[in-house]
Amino acid sequence: MQWLFDLIDPLRTMGLGWVFLWVLVENTLIFIPAIVGGEALVRVFKQKAVSDAPDPLTRMEIGLSVCTIVINSLVTWVGVILWRADLIQAPYDTGLRVLLDAVVLFLAMDFLMYVFHRVAHHPLLYPIIHSTHHRYENPRPLTLFVLNPFESAGFGALWLVLVTIYPATLVGMMIYLTLNVVFGLVGHIGVEPLPRRYLDIPLIRYISTSTFHAEHHGDKDHNFGFYTLIWDRLFGTISPDYERDFVQANSVRATNG
Ligand SMILES: [Zn+2]
Ligand SMILES: [Zn+2]
Repeated sequence: MQWLFDLIDPLRTMGLGWVFLWVLVENTLIFIPAIVGGEALVRVFKQKAVSDAPDPLTRMEIGLSVCTIVINSLVTWVGVILWRADLIQAPYDTGLRVLLDAVVLFLAMDFLMYVFHRVAHHPLLYPIIHSTHHRYENPRPLTLFVLNPFESAGFGALWLVLVTIYPATLVGMMIYLTLNVVFGLVGHIGVEPLPRRYLDIPLIRYISTSTFHAEHHGDKDHNFGFYTLIWDRLFGTISPDYERDFVQANSVRATNG
């Protein structure tokens, strides 16, 4: 991991303008493989659709995605400033502590984002911060980034508050952030890569799937969670059709060979 620390350490003393450029490049380097990987999954699993094909790509979607990359970079930039001020510690530990941090961040952000997402669906806030994302009922990988700037900033603020309170290790944070992109992406590919037997695996079956978030795009009253089904089950907002839709996506493939 020494290479990682060597990469990050210069950010402590670099001019803040250069830091912004650095985090902008970093966020762009996350975006590109995410979209390429997402589009690859769409093609590989095209027979297991969980939503209809998306409408043709618009300039609005591209513009909002660019805006999201800039907002995410600003969030990272503020994170670096907080780290330089020792308000975010991000210790360079490795080992079991890293795994613990990844699990804590995963579950804590899952809960915080569930609450934020439900609040964003309140009739007073929905038109201002969340209706932009829901214009796209049939998502494509890019839809993950098609967000109102207030929404991207809100998610970013949740993250910064959490890592200011909880002193997660740098590697633990990076594992969580990678999972965040993977789950976000899988929720917007419109196909179900997981096999039917996934729903039979104890505990694992409560981890979110592509079907789960695709249903939210079609039915705004259910499935507000992102990484797990825990909070939707606990608060009674899970789609009653979840298992049926998951099985149906898998049976389509069986029918088509
Ligand atoms: Zn979505
Ligand atoms: Zn929503």
